[in-house]
Amino acid sequence: MDVTALFGCNVFNDEVMKNSLPAEIYRSLKRTVDEGAPLDSSIASAVANAMKDWAVKKGATHYTHWFQPLTNLTAEKHDSFIEPSGDKVIMQLTGKNLIVGEPDASSFPSGGTRATSAARGYTAWDPTSPAFVKEGTLYIPTIFVSHTGETLDKKAPLLKSMTALDTQAKRLLRLFGIECRKVATTVGTEQEYFLIDEKVYERRKDLVLTGRTLFGAPPTRGQELEDHYFGALKTRVSDFMRDLDETLWSYGIFAKSKHNEVAPAQHELAPVFTTTNVAVDANQLTMELMKKVAKKHGLVCLLHEKPFEGVNGSGKHNNWSISTDAGLNLLDPGENPESNPRFMLILACVIAAVDTYQGILRASVASAANDHRLGADEAPPAIISVYLGDQLGAIVDAIACGRAYIPHKAVPGSIGVPSSPIFPIDTTDRNRTSPFAFTGNKFEFRMLGSQASVADPNIVLNTIVAQAFSEAVEALSGAENFGLACREYTEKLLKEHYRIIFNYNGYGPDWEPEAERRGLLNLKNTADAVPQFLKRENIEVFVKQGVYTEKEVVARANISMETYVKTINIEGLTAAEMARQDIYPAVNGYIHSLCSVIASKRAVSEKLACNADMVLAEKLSAMNEKMMGAVEKLEEDLAHAPMEALVAAQHMAHTVVPDMNAVRALADGMEKLTASSYWPYPTYTDLLYSVK
Ligand code: ADP
Ligand code: MG
Repeated sequence: MDVTALFGCNVFNDEVMKNSLPAEIYRSLKRTVDEGAPLDSSIASAVANAMKDWAVKKGATHYTHWFQPLTNLTAEKHDSFIEPSGDKVIMQLTGKNLIVGEPDASSFPSGGTRATSAARGYTAWDPTSPAFVKEGTLYIPTIFVSHTGETLDKKAPLLKSMTALDTQAKRLLRLFGIECRKVATTVGTEQEYFLIDEKVYERRKDLVLTGRTLFGAPPTRGQELEDHYFGALKTRVSDFMRDLDETLWSYGIFAKSKHNEVAPAQHELAPVFTTTNVAVDANQLTMELMKKVAKKHGLVCLLHEKPFEGVNGSGKHNNWSISTDAGLNLLDPGENPESNPRFMLILACVIAAVDTYQGILRASVASAANDHRLGADEAPPAIISVYLGDQLGAIVDAIACGRAYIPHKAVPGSIGVPSSPIFPIDTTDRNRTSPFAFTGNKFEFRMLGSQASVADPNIVLNTIVAQAFSEAVEALSGAENFGLACREYTEKLLKEHYRIIFNYNGYGPDWEPEAERRGLLNLKNTADAVPQFLKRENIEVFVKQGVYTEKEVVARANISMETYVKTINIEGLTAAEMARQDIYPAVNGYIHSLCSVIASKRAVSEKLACNADMVLAEKLSAMNEKMMGAVEKLEEDLAHAPMEALVAAQHMAHTVVPDMNAVRALADGMEKLTASSYWPYPTYTDLLYSVK
């Protein structure tokens, strides 16, 4: 297969544009895409026409404005290209059709920014992310705003946050005599997922309705042998991965690495990084295509953060950096970071931003599903901290503590096998436990959930770093001795925010008390994390950087809370129904059979032992009875959930979730005691080892 020909064949990319647009129009569009110049609407008709001709040649009959409402999914409404012409039709896409759309906005979450009767919403073309043809439809990436101008999506604020960072970074670079046209953040998203067989999936109501198992006793074999990570791929899995890679390449997505992850049935895909906006769209498309391609192979791709208790959950690593249009990576420390004042100032700004706004960074990845990872015993803990590694860690320690820094150089190492090459050993080891780790020339934010949109944390990251840059510019502009002022300001930031740096094991038992001593936030669940958005200083940073209005911040916090409450409510109702309608009767069925065995043994002879049958029947009867009590409590508490989202969220986190856990503990206990032929659902072993 010719991968270079396949790559991007479904994308209206630069090459296609160049070949199909008049030179003048192409140049104007390029200025918008590359430099963020305002879109010249007079070119829209020509672009629309070229796009339509290209799409029709690819077999498209429809087009859609593709947008990202405040769910984690994308939305689309298809219109055909047909336009009546006498009793025939022509295929048409007008400039206006390309630039704006007007979907009914009333049924998308708005967090109270709009009354349901005020339904008008607009989608507007985002020329910075390429259009593509998929399944006979031309997809046009768009932003989504309400009639009154409030943003109703994740793309508009993301683009605004990128503009804020661009503006502030250019001001900062100017102080160092660097002029550039554009500074953009780049993102590479490592995506984890589970693959299970469609047949077992369909028999699990909880997986179908909630994306995770609400019941399931631990399998006899979990991930303890550590043999799945990077293990050889099973044929069915590798066929799926190959098909997925080819599909993603055809849409211009840089799918690069793939491997088995730690848990059985868990895998990972990582693309090559790109501009944040494009990376976010690509990740949305990747998640959708993972599910579709899996289906073709009789598999189901689970993107939930915690489909299975007792084995690892799935996350997403957000590798994040900042580069100029000339290719200068602002987070590249170079050989001697200690004598690179620009790098040290930028590093200090990022550290200061992450410390000052740790609450909203944590809240940006909060969801009912991600609560199973953060704050539980896996993934990075719910506490935000920054890992710098040995070299930068030592430099920052020296500055913050006023000590001299003794350079620690990379040394060529031999691994002791004569035929193996000698290569320089990295100056920084990896730290897998840190939520925000410096990894060479980028930061890796590891708290993201696997199914969440990567837009949310990037909006926060870009905004808070833009704020830190703007404060640095204000402090340093007009300084008489810039070099000295810069060094002093860097030192001040590092001293003030030193508490956020933690270079050790984030999973260790000492970290929580230590973090508390340092005054760092430890927000273990969504109900506790989301209110961070409502703090005055946090609202202000969004407003100051032009990313959200106050009303928009409040709306988004409301939506996160409402989504959390609704998710737990669905899970609670599903758990109660499964327990009542399937598990309770199934266990009774088995008890009935045990009792029949006892009765028939007794009828035949007093000598036939039936002690084990008796003990088991008694035990199961008691547990089943107790489970129904727990189900009733769960149902009661669900029925009495408060109306107001903030209060309801607390009720869900602290009453309903424990209720569900109580039902589950009893059900899982009974699963281990019940004959497998009676159990109503596929077990963990059936699920985790379903792909042969
Ligand atoms: P690993 O962390 O496993 O060593 P890499 O360092 O190659 O892997 O990168 C992991 C991810 O980080 C990949 O998705 C990669 O594209 C992304 N990445 C690398 N450089 C950058 C950068 N400058 N900006 C954003 N992401 C990056
Ligand atoms: Mg990683």
